[in-house]
Amino acid sequence: MNLAKLLVLVILLMSACIGEEKEEKNVVVVTIYPLYEITKEIAGDRLEVVSVMPPNADMHTFEPDPKTLAYIEKAKAVVFTGTLSETWEKRIYKRAKNLNKKIINASEGVKIIEGDPHFWISIKNAIIIVENIKNRLKEIDPENAEYYEKNAENFIKKLKELDIEYKNALNTCSKKIIIVTHPAYTYLAEEYGFEQIPIYEVHEVEPSPKRIKEIIEKAKKEKIKFILYEKGFDKKIAETLAREINAELLEVNPIISGNYIETMKRNLEAFKVAMECSQ
Ligand SMILES: [Zn+2]
Repeated sequence: MNLAKLLVLVILLMSACIGEEKEEKNVVVVTIYPLYEITKEIAGDRLEVVSVMPPNADMHTFEPDPKTLAYIEKAKAVVFTGTLSETWEKRIYKRAKNLNKKIINASEGVKIIEGDPHFWISIKNAIIIVENIKNRLKEIDPENAEYYEKNAENFIKKLKELDIEYKNALNTCSKKIIIVTHPAYTYLAEEYGFEQIPIYEVHEVEPSPKRIKEIIEKAKKEKIKFILYEKGFDKKIAETLAREINAELLEVNPIISGNYIETMKRNLEAFKVAMECSQ
């Protein structure tokens, strides 16, 4: 090998090494899937964001995978609900604390409604969550502060548009009531003025026959034609109920898969059908 060739080789090797170093990003672990989706919107390509909860899991019965848990050791920060309504999340919280990891509380400043831990299924709350996560990401990675600020700004703009879409559409409905699998839409119901009847309570294994009877009576009285069953849940009870009241099933997703805005838009389509909205 002559000197020129050797030099080229050395340069190539050096640039390969530099390239590799550039790829090494700070790791941010997020406990639940919906917060992972929101964190990714802000982090963009500057951080490695890892979700403990995989898509389509039921967060109320879920058990974390030891492989994902190992990421907590590598993490620069861990994003939590702050409400810690699931025991598995509480365990992760303790572990992160013991390892002296930076804790990011997604629900700081959010008004939590008792009986419904799904505070992220509220566009107004999503905006608060974005602010909380963005502020902390800027602290752990000040070099990219401007980038996170810009991403958060863009995302909040989209969320505000989505809120207007919800408001306009849900203002035109002839029904103001939905039947859902479990109470994940209390925040939306409060914000846009409708009633939510859950078949299950959040940590309930099976609804009581008395409860089923009440739902059937209410559904008949209100002439409800649709039942919103949720992704990640057993469909059986919703199907039985639907047969009983001669209703159809529609799917909604409590943000356990897919992109936040797109999923919320699809949910709105289901709400519009169920509540017979004209817009
Ligand atoms: Zn849930």
